[in-house]
Amino acid sequence: MSALRQWFSPAGPSSGAAVLRSLAFAAVYAFAVFLGRLTVLEGTSISLVWPAAGVAALWLAAQRGTGTWSLDHALVGALTFVITAGMGAPALLALCFGVANVVQVAVLQYLLHRWHPSLWGAGGDQPLTGTQQLSGVLLATVLATASGAVLGPLAVGMVTGEWSPVSVVVWMVRNTACILLILGLGLRVGYLLTRPRRGEEEVGLGQPSPAVLLPLMRLDGARRVELAALVVVSVTAYLLVFVLLPQLPVAYPLIALTVWAALRFDTTIVVMHDFLAGTAAVVFTLAGHGPFTSVDDVGTRALIVQAFVALVALVGMALALGRDEREVLLGEVRRRAQEAAERAEQVEILARLSRQLYTSDDVRTDICVAARQITGADMAYLLEPTGAGDLASTAASSAALGAQVPPVGFSLTNGEPSLTVKAFHGRELVFIGDMGARSDASLRVVEGLRVGAAAWQPVHTHAEQAIAVLALAWHHPVRSLPAQVSPMLQTLAGEAAIAIERGDLLVRLATAAKQDALTGLPNRLRWDEAATEEVARAERHGLPLTFALIDLDHFKRYNDSRGHLAGDALLRDFAEAARQHMRVVDTLARWGGEEFAMALPGCTAQEAAVVADRVRASVPRAQTCTIGIAQWQPGQNAQDVLNAADAALYRGKRAGRNTTVLGSLSG
Ligand code: GH3
Ligand code: MG
Ligand code: MG
Repeated sequence: MSALRQWFSPAGPSSGAAVLRSLAFAAVYAFAVFLGRLTVLEGTSISLVWPAAGVAALWLAAQRGTGTWSLDHALVGALTFVITAGMGAPALLALCFGVANVVQVAVLQYLLHRWHPSLWGAGGDQPLTGTQQLSGVLLATVLATASGAVLGPLAVGMVTGEWSPVSVVVWMVRNTACILLILGLGLRVGYLLTRPRRGEEEVGLGQPSPAVLLPLMRLDGARRVELAALVVVSVTAYLLVFVLLPQLPVAYPLIALTVWAALRFDTTIVVMHDFLAGTAAVVFTLAGHGPFTSVDDVGTRALIVQAFVALVALVGMALALGRDEREVLLGEVRRRAQEAAERAEQVEILARLSRQLYTSDDVRTDICVAARQITGADMAYLLEPTGAGDLASTAASSAALGAQVPPVGFSLTNGEPSLTVKAFHGRELVFIGDMGARSDASLRVVEGLRVGAAAWQPVHTHAEQAIAVLALAWHHPVRSLPAQVSPMLQTLAGEAAIAIERGDLLVRLATAAKQDALTGLPNRLRWDEAATEEVARAERHGLPLTFALIDLDHFKRYNDSRGHLAGDALLRDFAEAARQHMRVVDTLARWGGEEFAMALPGCTAQEAAVVADRVRASVPRAQTCTIGIAQWQPGQNAQDVLNAADAALYRGKRAGRNTTVLGSLSG
């Protein structure tokens, strides 16, 4: 029902161009009616050929949806009436023919519209392809010509007093053959003519053709020779059968030529061949030549020649369209295979990136590089919350500048219009193809970094916590992101979250492994490294270096009297207090128990003693400590200096504690 309503309520008002096209079709139609009337069968009022049926079918197919529906049908009726009457037919007959032709084309268009809405015509975007479409067109044509045949031959019967079932069949076969040939050819040619305007994405029909001649131009050398042979053999064969050998009443071997054309050439060439072959058969028969003229009865002769033409059209089109259908399917299979290959490649890329991230020394920069590889963006930033209410870039990669891109940052709290902050809080990939058109973008960034297009991929942990956002920028506007980019970026973001968390955990573990848990000072492990590094540096620069060992006095007693927790607190507070007296370049480490080690680069033992006395004075809660000091001597290693400091400390303890003692080597 909706198809009927749509068909009878044409879309919108008709444009001037559409009306002009209607008039052009009307002129061709008038000529076709004229030609048809020239072939009126002797003693009847029925024409041998009726090209007007095919022209009308093509006309309304091409004008579908342009709003000229009423005009076109009125013209079909009026022209049929005027020309038929003008060429001597009685007015009643001409009127009936006019109505019959309108009914015929209206039924045909309605059925085509209903069964094949995508066929060529306004709003349609497909050529006539496949045997299924062909059978639909054939059935629609038979039903349409049957509805025309109800009235046309009946009118002839009324006027001449002679109605016969043969005249009904002649009408139907004649019109069916004409419609198949002309509509088939017109749909192909019309499709080829208008195809470039519809985009170039159709599959399986070879390269898009800008012109109708392209099927000919596409042929390679050998195929052109074959086409020439087909033309020569066809012309010779039709001449032989229809003119030179009139005593041989056999036309059917000519079908072999149609099969040859259909198996070897483009469908447009096939329908052209069908059309010319059919026209030749009709014209020769009309001129009194060929095998069909041996049939005396005019009606039967008409029927046989029309059946021949219809057979040529059907065989040619069925073979060619069947082949087209296979090519479309093959094209689809090829497209799917290519898609599968692309997907495999994407998986491979992601697997490689994820392996890279797993072994990377600089996870954040590698995430940015990977994001640029996937998207082709000019710049990629990884932005993470700083913990101070900001979202700041922690890594970047740029096509032009490598990792040396200016840092960017946005406030998470002050409400500055930032798409980055919005994307960070979101869940999905955000893409903006033209940043110039966005008023909610941060001008500072858009202009500073020359951002033409941008995309953001939020990074979430498995626990659904937003930990970062990947920001991608192109210097020029970008129409759209390829379909595979979104899932790939999403996967990358998942990998990135794991890599970032893992990387941070490793850093925390590494730090923890070298840090004393109670005081937060470097532990013995870190001290050993630092001590060796300091000795090497002193050696390199020839600068003094002094180590000191600090031991709290009677700490066991302190523990025993106030408890271990108080002892712990003293250790913590002492570490904190001692650090206040040291420079950034100095190292204070917890050496073990209540013993601390100190490295003072650039200090002699005497200078270190001053620092040591201040440190001693800083022991909290009226407690004391003893400090042994030793200055590094060229040629000594860290252990030698520590041994000397330890010996000095021991001497200090023996001397009554709460004192600073310089090691013997230094003095
Ligand atoms: P001296 O003046 O001779 O150094 O006497 P001392 O008691 O300080 O030395 P001693 O070596 O006899 O005892 C060190 C004590 O430090 C023993 C141990 O219980 C305590 N100690 C070591 N590590 C910790 C710690 O982490 N926390 C607490 N509360 N006590 C600790
Ligand atoms: Mg001790
Ligand atoms: Mg002690």
